[in-house]
Amino acid sequence: MSNDPIPTGEPVAGKLVVISGPSGVGKSTVVAEVLQCCGDRVRLSISATTRPPRAGEQEGTDYYFLSDEEFARRRTAGEFLECAEVFGRGHWYGTLWSEVRPSLKDGKWVILEIDVKGAADVQDAFGNLITIFIRPGSLEELERRLRSRGTETEEAIQRRLSVARSELQLADRYKYQVVNDTIPRAVDEICTILQNQGLSHD
Ligand code: ADP
Ligand code: 5GP
Repeated sequence: MSNDPIPTGEPVAGKLVVISGPSGVGKSTVVAEVLQCCGDRVRLSISATTRPPRAGEQEGTDYYFLSDEEFARRRTAGEFLECAEVFGRGHWYGTLWSEVRPSLKDGKWVILEIDVKGAADVQDAFGNLITIFIRPGSLEELERRLRSRGTETEEAIQRRLSVARSELQLADRYKYQVVNDTIPRAVDEICTILQNQGLSHD
């Protein structure tokens, strides 16, 4: 989709950090710990989606859960920095400008946990961003994780594995690749990347 970059002249003090990786690789798990260890300067952008909530997921914490109509209305109104239909099954996901712009102006580092299509759109709109691709140790391990989460039907698992294969082929478009073999190692590697890029604690 076409983007609406922050207008020229508007000060941008913070940084965008794009994190992608196949569904089930452990992005949410790892990012939750990165947020714990990086302090107040880093926050996670909560995406909007039209997929239904999973058991335990909360509105405004995990996602903003929108109807198809509301998502389309906001898309037309230009409220998304990027959005994409991720698994080709009519479920849309998108990053709201309202999640990003105020935090960037505030000097925060904002993590976008988004798919490879969305990441490419953000890359086109922003020059200065950090891109990290989280990889599984192997596709077999990815499948084990997707199954262990117990949130997807067999059909959805197969769809996610097929999307994963094409996403993995695009991993070298990212500045950094991190293998999530163990959670502490992946968290440590990402925190080190952010620090090397200039993140300091408040
Ligand atoms: P994503 O956000 O990428 O879809 P999740 O964070 O939901 O993935 O993780 C998928 C499943 O894998 C969860 O059950 C999670 O507890 C588990 N998991 C995440 N990282 C690891 C790891 N390094 N080793 C083993 N299991 C993991
Ligand atoms: P899930 O349905 O497992 O929560 O998320 C599926 C995938 O949607 C994630 O692996 C992530 O890459 C992608 N995703 C989540 N939020 C966004 C978003 O705001 N924009 C885009 N483009 N993709 C997203």
